[in-house]
Amino acid sequence: MAQSRSAELTEKLTAVHGRIDRAVAAAGRKDRPELIVITKYFPAADVEHLHGLGLRDVGENKDQEAAAKAAETAHLQDLKWHFVGQLQSNKAKSVARYAHAVHSVDRLKVANALAKAAAAALERGDRTRPLQCLIQVDLRDPAAEDGRGGAAPADVDALAEAIADADALHLAGLMAVAPLDQPARPAFERLQRLSRRLRSIHPQATAVSAGMSQDLEDAIACGATHLRIGRDVLGERPAHR
Ligand SMILES: *Cc1c(COP(=O)(O)O)cnc(C)c1O
Repeated sequence: MAQSRSAELTEKLTAVHGRIDRAVAAAGRKDRPELIVITKYFPAADVEHLHGLGLRDVGENKDQEAAAKAAETAHLQDLKWHFVGQLQSNKAKSVARYAHAVHSVDRLKVANALAKAAAAALERGDRTRPLQCLIQVDLRDPAAEDGRGGAAPADVDALAEAIADADALHLAGLMAVAPLDQPARPAFERLQRLSRRLRSIHPQATAVSAGMSQDLEDAIACGATHLRIGRDVLGERPAHR
């Protein structure tokens, strides 16, 4: 069982790397985006398999599941956890203990809670480096309502300043999820423009986290530096849990 799962993951991971390579070549890019495998709904055993295949970046969208998996995989060398889901400020303390990065900072209250929690975690020695923070931007047509979240583009500057000013946080860049029922490409182009603007103020904020299983090629064409891939590596998730 474990061996066939490992073989399945090897095959799927190889296929995704192939897609990334082709998209990078098609875009004429010299850099290659980082692959983060989103492991939500899948067991810690899968994280172990992926680590064995050389993967070091994994992500989750809920604190409870992430905290449990991070604890179960604490023995894996150099594994980095990326928190990509909507975050309540009362979960900041927990996330600051295990997360290398939070991709979904979408309001000042969350940024401030993370700043405080990361500072405390650094002081306790629960973490050794500042928490990487990406601002999640809402790329929807303002009329749409699909609940995917993120800060309004007009609020990015204030959020960026709050993050950049916090010693325990590092302003890494922007993140977005392509809006449902709209083509991904124009949305990612908009994200790329917002990233350019952000970098003109905060040159260190180079990360562009965009691209999931169905739209990674569009994201790579639009300069994504981090891809968040779930189902195309791990398989279909159970519909509800
Ligand atoms: C689940 C999830 C992903 C991965 O999506 P797939 O379609 O499974 O590749 C990426 N980003 C976020 C924020 C997610 O919640």
